[in-house]
Parts: sequence; C-alpha cells; structure tokens
Amino acid sequence: MTADEKTTIKEKIASAAIGLGPLPPGSRIGILGGGQLGRMIVLAAARLGYRSHVFCPALDEPALQVVEARTISAYDDLKAIDAFVDSIDVVTFEFENVPSMVVERIGDRVPTRPGWKILHIAQNRLREKDFLRGIGVPTADYREITGTDGLQRAIRDLGTPAVLKSASFGYDGKGQVLIKPDTDQREAWAAMGASIGILETFVDFMTEISVIVARGLDGRMATYDPVENWHVNHILDTTIAPARIDARLTMQAEALARHIAEALDLVGLVAVEMFVTRDGRLLVNELAPRPHNSGHWTIDACVTSQFEQTVRAVCGLPLGATERHSNATMKNLIGNEVEDWLKILAEPTAKVHLYGKAHARPGRKMGHVTRLMPKR
Ligand code: AMP
Repeated sequence: MTADEKTTIKEKIASAAIGLGPLPPGSRIGILGGGQLGRMIVLAAARLGYRSHVFCPALDEPALQVVEARTISAYDDLKAIDAFVDSIDVVTFEFENVPSMVVERIGDRVPTRPGWKILHIAQNRLREKDFLRGIGVPTADYREITGTDGLQRAIRDLGTPAVLKSASFGYDGKGQVLIKPDTDQREAWAAMGASIGILETFVDFMTEISVIVARGLDGRMATYDPVENWHVNHILDTTIAPARIDARLTMQAEALARHIAEALDLVGLVAVEMFVTRDGRLLVNELAPRPHNSGHWTIDACVTSQFEQTVRAVCGLPLGATERHSNATMKNLIGNEVEDWLKILAEPTAKVHLYGKAHARPGRKMGHVTRLMPKR
C-alpha cells in the first residue's frame, strides 16, 4: 500500500469516527458482550470485510470462538475498556446489561451505535415505559413499586391479575411474579428480588409479536415483517414469520416500531416486542436496541439478515433490503433439545445454527433451527 493510500484510509476512518461517513472495510467493530448475538454479528461483519473485537467477562462465550480480537474483563474495568477503545473504530453491544455509564465513557472517544442514552432507557422497565408513554406509544398500565405498601396500593389500583417485575436487569422472565387475588404480597415482593419494581396489568393477549427496525446514520429506516413469538417458561421458543395478523395490525405495528426508532434517534437496530390484545390493539411490552432472538429467521429467509443490517447501520453503510423471500419458523434449541441436531440436519430444508456452547443447561439457548416455506 502506498503512503497516499494509507493516508486516504486514515482520513476515511477519521471522518467516520466523528460520525460523518461510512467506515471502510478493514475497520474494527468493538462488540460489548460475547453471546450468540455477538457471534452472529462477528460472522456477518467478516463477510463484509470488517474485523471485530469482542469485550466480555467470561472465556467460554460463543462469540470468542469466531472473533479476531478479544478482551476478557469485567465491564467496569475502565483500564481494560480504555485499551479496548484504542483498538476499535466503532462500538456496539449485543446485550443490554453493560453499564450505560461505561458506554457513555466509550462514546466520548469512539462512536457508539446505538448510543448510551438508548441503552440507559432499555435497561430499566420504568424508564422504558415512561419513554414509550411520553411519545404516545400504548403500553399496559403500570406503577412504580418501591416496597410492599406501594405494592398493595398498586394492586388496589390496577387490579389482578397483574405482573410484578424487577425494574432493571430482567430478561427471559427473570424477576417476574404473577399476582393473583390470593397471592401473598410479601412473598411476591421477596420473590421478585429487587428494590425497585414495576407492577403491570396482566395483558390477556391473543398473540405476541415483534418488529425489528434498523435505522442508519442518515436516518433512513428498514423494517422487517412483524413476526409472531411463542414463549415457553418465559423464554422464546418459536417465531413464526410473518405474523398471522391482518394488514391493518401489520401496518400499525411497523409504524409504531419506526416511530420508536425515530424518537430514540437510533443508529442500529431496535426490536419492539408487542402484545396483540383480544380486542385488536397493540401494546408495546419491551424494547431491545440490538439484534433480537425473534429476528434469527432473517438470516435464512430475508435478503439482508438482522446481523448484516446491524453491521451496515453501525458502520454507516446503506441499509440492505429487508424483504422476506421465504416464510419461516424459527425454533430455539433450548437445553437438551440440541441433542436432536443430527435428526434436524437430516431435514433438507432445515437451517441449523449452533452456538458452540459446551454445556446444555435447562433454559440455555444452544442454537436454533429455521425451517423455510414458500412465501404466501
Ligand atoms: P418480558 O421479560 O417483559 O419480555 O416478559 C417475558 C414474557 O412474559 C412476555 O413475552 C410475556 O409472554 C409475559 N408477560 C410479560 N409481561 C406481561 C403482561 N403484562 N401481561 C401478560 N404477559 C406478560
């Protein structure tokens, strides 16, 4: 490479680093978190010629098996964070429980996409619901709870059944208690296990759906078809793409997701989980500002997967088409279900994705299989 070429690449990186343009292939994406989402971001990044550096606290994480550079450290080890930042051109995250203050610190030196403020909102169910209500997005009714007295008042207000959730660090149904008329409120509060909680009206939903929307540096958006999600023990089990909902609800769900992405001033992806009520309304339950389990089907059934889209958005590239070329069902392989890998592989159209995890514990997502069907 000539000195001139080197200068050009450096200039390109410098302009991208202050958010002005696309990062060229060869640049390095920093990823906070080393799980399967990180693994699939790394693989998509490599296809487009980008390098990745994964920062995570444990050695046996799925993303580490496929990545060029790694830092194994606690997220609050600021020395390790600073060294990580020195080696990357942009940073993103693959799960929400990275302290948002750390992401804010990183953002002072290198673009973080999505930004720390979005992470801060998504990390806390109260902040998230306040934000959604503030921008006119419907949610289940809710109250902030800081103790058993407050819980009693809120139950009187909202009625039962209701769901008590920890305000922060909850996922896959962890820290959630269903409150029925005969539930012992003290026991429920103790079982929830946090000092700040949120009580939500129990939604008697017909189905759960999610919409993933990507938003680029230039503000353009690309939306995936709404999909239907079925949970077992609060963990996503199966996604059906597209969701079996009517055209009006499809349009409303997509419009809500785009409205949320705009209001967040997002650069990256956001998955918006919603309930479809029996009387045909949409209530937003949760936001995830990253690729999402309910978007894994896009790898095999869409022109651009959610992981490639993440790389495109984070690197300031044009977004790809989200068009679905096949219908699909995605089944998570949870715990021992992964033992069926050979049987599933024998189905010619089943697309098997295994995350390289050594031990199949109950509830652990070991892989997934996407089954394709002709587009309706
Ligand atoms: P979450 O951690 O909020 O995503 O909740 C996990 C799952 O619990 C959801 O996907 C729903 O199946 C169920 N759930 C959560 N909140 C409610 C609610 N307010 N009403 C009914 N079901 C709920």
